[in-house]
Amino acid sequence: MEIYLINHMVYANYENYQVDYSVVNQILDNTAETWQPDRSVDEKDRNTKQGKIAEAIVEKFLNIYFSQSISMKSYDEIRNDGYLKHAPFDFLIWKTGEADISQIVEAVRNDISSTMDKYVHLSQHTRQLCKEMNVKIVEVKSTKIRDSLKKEADFEDNYNNADAVRRLANTIKDTDDVFCYPYFKRSEARKNYSFEDYCNYVKSLVPSLRSYEGEELRKKVIDLEVEKQSSDVFIRVYLDTLIKKGFVIGWIQRERLLDYDVLFKRMYQPNKSEKALYFTKSLRETDSLENLIRVFEKADFKSIRETDSVYANPYTITKFYHKSRNCNFLKRVKEEDIIVYRSEEEAIESGRYIQRCKNCF
Ligand SMILES: [Zn+2]
Repeated sequence: MEIYLINHMVYANYENYQVDYSVVNQILDNTAETWQPDRSVDEKDRNTKQGKIAEAIVEKFLNIYFSQSISMKSYDEIRNDGYLKHAPFDFLIWKTGEADISQIVEAVRNDISSTMDKYVHLSQHTRQLCKEMNVKIVEVKSTKIRDSLKKEADFEDNYNNADAVRRLANTIKDTDDVFCYPYFKRSEARKNYSFEDYCNYVKSLVPSLRSYEGEELRKKVIDLEVEKQSSDVFIRVYLDTLIKKGFVIGWIQRERLLDYDVLFKRMYQPNKSEKALYFTKSLRETDSLENLIRVFEKADFKSIRETDSVYANPYTITKFYHKSRNCNFLKRVKEEDIIVYRSEEEAIESGRYIQRCKNCF
């Protein structure tokens, strides 16, 4: 496998990479009955294989570029269940020399053996240990590069053309999301199921939320999701599985994914009447993997979560950006269409939205 860092984006050529089929097959055999039943054997095989390739790309990149500063251990190196149960994460990472990982490994193994069903949940104890030692729990999500993305980017499999590749990566960033699943419910059949409905559902389960409503309830529910979500870092990898090339589009920290600007989406699942629920952010909001070391900096999450974000209307001909998502001038724009910039500077840099809205600033 060859790894390149071009224009802050990690590219991989994995033509010569051999997936460990003994591992893939064990995972498939052992977890077969807990996969969604409507997925074909081929699809399960492909997804498992893709996941392993994506992990390998991330691992190789970190080994090459951060061999001195970041250490890592994969879940596969920790697990002691013969690949029987679903993995709750893909990697642990920490600053080299700054954590005693053996305690955490033991704690994770305890979690695995005390899991009765097929879904391993990390205990509060394990998560607390990780927090104390500044060890981050990492999840890698892989997606196949769809033909529609290539078409939109005018991309004709010319992977040796750096400009073309950059265009493709930008198209992916403009189109797709980084996401995680809601803690309390993963799918829903009802049409028009909204974030408000989800919040009220969570409220019905969690007594301490009883006195909250509207915007306050929404924030409390998001705070709770941050607390329940065990992964600290989400990494998004895109793979061209025929040509065996891949990109690491970027990574995002849990607190930034689940800040108060997060979107709630319902997505189609093939052959199912229920739709999957997600919390999502645009891939534009992810950071390059070359900056992963930033995850260890003590961030002031309170200020991250009370964001400096500004918002823009993609359909307007004016140059205004907005301080409030609820500004009157954004009322007619669908929530997922609103453009989010992390700061005023970022909006202005876009060249498109360069003036403060006089209504909401
Ligand atoms: Zn405004």
